[in-house]
Formats: sequence, C-alpha cells, structure tokens
Amino acid sequence: MRKIKNCFCGRLKPFEECCGLILKGDKEASTAEELMRSRYSAFVKADVDYLMKSYHSTTRPLSEKKEIKVWVDSVIWLHLQILSTNKGGVSDIEGTVVFKASFLEEGDVKVISENSIFEKEKGKWRYLKEYEPNE
Ligand SMILES: [Zn+2]
Repeated sequence: MRKIKNCFCGRLKPFEECCGLILKGDKEASTAEELMRSRYSAFVKADVDYLMKSYHSTTRPLSEKKEIKVWVDSVIWLHLQILSTNKGGVSDIEGTVVFKASFLEEGDVKVISENSIFEKEKGKWRYLKEYEPNE
C-alpha cells in the first residue's frame, strides 16, 4: 500500500499539490482559509519570502523579516487546526479564520490561537492582522 503523505496544513493531499503550489506562486489561494493554510505551511518550510508576500501591504512587517526568519528556523511546527471561518469565500473580499497552531520551541509545546483577518488586495487574499475585539 502506498502511503499518501498529507500536506503540512492537514489536507489529505501532498504538499506539492496543495500549499506547495501557492508558495511557489503557481496558484493563488482562492479562499481566506486556503491562504491561512498556505501561511502555516510557509511557517513549516521557513519560507519567509512567502510569509511577507501573503501579508496585506499595509501591515507587512518587512522590517522584522530577519527576526521572523530566525524565529521560524528555531521552532518545529506540529499541527494546524482551523476552528472556524467567517466569510472569506471565493467571492468575498474579507473574512476571518480562527485557528490553533502548535509548535515546539526549546523543547516546550506551545500553542498560538488567533482570529485572523484576511482581506483581498488586487483580487488576491492577503493576511491583514489579528482581530482584536477592543479596537
Ligand atoms: Zn496544504
């Protein structure tokens, strides 16, 4: 029996046919969730260029690129769980994705929980920022 290796994002297809296409620029994420998944895979692959590219231009932390690279190289990503999505569909222009991502940092398992806001920019999904209810 051939074992099919899932993509890092958890989908039941190989990375090369899933997030790999988006990271390479062969395909655009069609939904906010797909962009979220591709960004998780980019964290796994320490693909900081893609992480930058997938940010909305108004929030893209280019000045922190080096620090982000050092950090992503130092952790081991374990699991992504998409908890819920709101809008962010093919014909939407904005949407949110609630997720949990776990990783190993200096031997400890840590979990990031975030409600992320995504917005289309020139027709392409981009990560805007974390949703903060007090804003
Ligand atoms: Zn994937």
